[in-house]
Amino acid sequence: MCGFISIFGPEGSDVLQDILTGLLAIQHRGQDAAGIVSFDEKFRAKKGLGLVREVFEDKHLSRLSGSMAVGHVRYPTVGQNEVGDVQPFWIDFPVGVAMAHNGNVTNFHELKKDYFAGRHVRLASNCDLEAVLYVFADRLLRRKGDSVMAEDVVEATRETFERVKGAYSVVGIIAGVGMYAFRDPFGIKPCIFGRKQTEQGWQYAVASESVVLDVAGYEVVRDLKAGELLWIGMDRKPQFFQVGTKPHRPCVFEYIYFARPDSSLDGASVYAARLELGKKLGEQWKKTGLEVDVVIPVPESARTAAQTMAEVLGVPYREGFVKNRYVGRTFIMPNDKARQSTIRHKLNPIRVEFEGKRVLILDDSIVRGNTSRQIVKIARQMGAAKVYLASYSPPLLHPCLYGIDMSTKREFVARGRTTAEIATELGADFVLYQTIEDMVQAVQAVGPDRQFCKACFDGNYPTGDITERMLSDIETDRLEATKS
Ligand code: AMP
Repeated sequence: MCGFISIFGPEGSDVLQDILTGLLAIQHRGQDAAGIVSFDEKFRAKKGLGLVREVFEDKHLSRLSGSMAVGHVRYPTVGQNEVGDVQPFWIDFPVGVAMAHNGNVTNFHELKKDYFAGRHVRLASNCDLEAVLYVFADRLLRRKGDSVMAEDVVEATRETFERVKGAYSVVGIIAGVGMYAFRDPFGIKPCIFGRKQTEQGWQYAVASESVVLDVAGYEVVRDLKAGELLWIGMDRKPQFFQVGTKPHRPCVFEYIYFARPDSSLDGASVYAARLELGKKLGEQWKKTGLEVDVVIPVPESARTAAQTMAEVLGVPYREGFVKNRYVGRTFIMPNDKARQSTIRHKLNPIRVEFEGKRVLILDDSIVRGNTSRQIVKIARQMGAAKVYLASYSPPLLHPCLYGIDMSTKREFVARGRTTAEIATELGADFVLYQTIEDMVQAVQAVGPDRQFCKACFDGNYPTGDITERMLSDIETDRLEATKS
């Protein structure tokens, strides 16, 4: 998870305000930490733990002004939430490079041990971006000429793809030379490029989601392709290089849960995809023969799909839960106990929508089952006659190794259980999941001709290099993180 934005403005411009606007627009991609590194003669940075509006104060703004900057919001995947792990990272010597990423390096442990330790390099952070930055910078250092040319950036990207495994889309700045961005070889993580005309000339932006470009006033140029590099040097002319040659397998979970509904990923609207997901699930529900009186979404992500599901079933869509948006995400609480009590603080029911009714409660996904269990309990307390649960994504069974912090496989409620057993476990009268085929068809309906990474549902990791050791390393990291 995580979100980034990088902007390169004309000489003398100040891009900071757009970076801040952009970071606020992708706050949903990470709420644990935020950072900005700008360049104007030298790199300047401000990073901290917390939300964008908590980290940046007025006093930082003038200090961070400049015509090039990179910003990041962090949701920790590998590593703890320590300030030393907050992105963007940069180095001043022997070549000035700043970098931020979204994703996860799957061979981070091996790189640390085999590649870096062998060269007497000890990584200073627990953040896998450090590995990406050093491999990239090391190749830049071995360039032939004095100045950094486009071909040097291409070679640095190629070497990064060869050595650093996983899914990581990257943005960054090379001091005094230009802005670069590359999408991971399989295009699992999103990365979109836009521009706006200013009085001084074109201003370019790269971000995790199109919503950043919308709100900061940039027109969308296009999404980067899988394994593609964008380079904009001092001539301010965008150049594209196809460095990777792997098939494009964007993450399907971005459409389900992660991206904002007002974003488009690879040209496909997330909102439209969710409408389709709701329709498909409505059709499946009809086959169960179970009658319902009302469809109620778990806010916020399930709202869109609940509308079309209700339409298909010919019953009202109702807001049965009011969400207190100031509580924060339950998912990122450090342990299960904290998580469970926060769900109750966060979602308050409206009794009339439950009392005496057969309610169908729709969520985007069921991970550990904590949210669903609490919600079923609340619905029963409100006097519901029947409590049915539906998830517009299929059962989550496999950990995401590419940066969506899901769970360890031991924690997935669907693992090793039939849907009837899951219903019992969650206290519901019936549970229905979307099928993998329907999910894929729904998203393909709004963005045809593409296949997705859906490893969290079917265990097929598209990078093809996932070993048992990586799975167990990730499992151990996550368990350690939840213990502390
Ligand atoms: P759980 O209570 O563990 O079953 O979590 C399910 C809830 O978490 C759903 O309501 C989802 O909206 C939300 N969710 C699913 N995946 C993630 C994720 N990777 N990060 C944060 N929240 C998530």
